[in-house]
Amino acid sequence: MFNTNTINRFQQLDTPFYYYDLDALRKTLEACRTAASKYGFHVHYAMKANFNPKVLDIIQSYGFGADCVSGNEVKAAIEHGFGKDKVVFAGVGKSDREINLALDADIFCFNVESVQELYIINDLAKAKYKTASVAIRINPNVDAHTHHFITTGLDENKFGINTWQLPDVIKALKECPNLKFLGIHFHIGSQITDMEVYKNLCTRINEMQDWFNDHGFEIKVLNTGGGLGVDYYNPDTNGISDFESYFKVFSQFLNVKPGQEVHFELGRALVAQSASLISRVLYVKNGLKKNFLVLDAGMTELIRPMLYQAYHLIENLSQTESEETVHYDVVGPICESTDCFQKDVELPQSHRGDLFAIRTAGAYGEVMASGYNLRDIVGSVYSE
Ligand SMILES: *Cc1c(COP(=O)(O)O)cnc(C)c1O
Repeated sequence: MFNTNTINRFQQLDTPFYYYDLDALRKTLEACRTAASKYGFHVHYAMKANFNPKVLDIIQSYGFGADCVSGNEVKAAIEHGFGKDKVVFAGVGKSDREINLALDADIFCFNVESVQELYIINDLAKAKYKTASVAIRINPNVDAHTHHFITTGLDENKFGINTWQLPDVIKALKECPNLKFLGIHFHIGSQITDMEVYKNLCTRINEMQDWFNDHGFEIKVLNTGGGLGVDYYNPDTNGISDFESYFKVFSQFLNVKPGQEVHFELGRALVAQSASLISRVLYVKNGLKKNFLVLDAGMTELIRPMLYQAYHLIENLSQTESEETVHYDVVGPICESTDCFQKDVELPQSHRGDLFAIRTAGAYGEVMASGYNLRDIVGSVYSE
């Protein structure tokens, strides 16, 4: 929801741009911190969701750690003040250069995704006379009941180590003196709103924990990953994810032993509702069967609808009084047929120059912007 002052401000600006509501961001971070602290849970922010420098600084100021998936993210996390003892590094394809960078930075933990990676990290650590702390990313084969493009925890996914390979993990850990085993890590997918899924994940984590104990390995860290979803349909009435219920499920169903730490890696739920993509209508095309609104933003600014068939609420900010509605396909200017935000959207009758907001665009939005078609990389505007 935008007040008149904000819309007037948009009128003065070139479009497209991301608009960040920093107050909404802070309220979300506060809600998450409060809910997690009830149980002493550790939250790492999954930086890949949004690494806008201003956003990173605010998130860091709430005391969260960082969950990184590239060497540059590890570097940026440390530059933005996330303590190195709160940085975790996941990724199915960490390069030697990235592993060395993280070893030099003395990060908290590598979340390791294959048996081979264990040996490589051990070798690189040994060359530096260091010990690398590792958690094993296990593929728990839990169905996240989310869109198949963003599920990650099934046997057929490329991520993590499948359970039948765990004997090889034990062998590797025994053979690698420069590794310190911290615990186990999971991440089963994104945009998960069904708490039953997390309950199932807890059951699997408990089983895995028992398995490691039976094989003589103590677990210090249980890292459950991220994935908590947001409400893309009702950003105004349901702008903050249900952190209370989320953490409560883990407190109820996870078998946490004395001295153990429970870690989370939330991305989307922390940032998605804090930004909208603001755009203008360039052209209105009325066809025989369809009407098109051609915006000045497209898949180069926000690719989620085209990449994951994702839904975003689309609003005309200039025609709020209008009674007459028309069904439009809302498309971008890029030379690709898939460059369509949504088909058949009921909107007020719209005109060239109308301002549009594409809501809930704070996660996996600006970070995926590209210069395809040699377009300018989209910029950002802040509420304060
Ligand atoms: C992307 C990712 C996350 C965050 O996922 P969200 O759905 O944004 O919460 C957490 N952990 C890992 C390993 C990831 O790759």
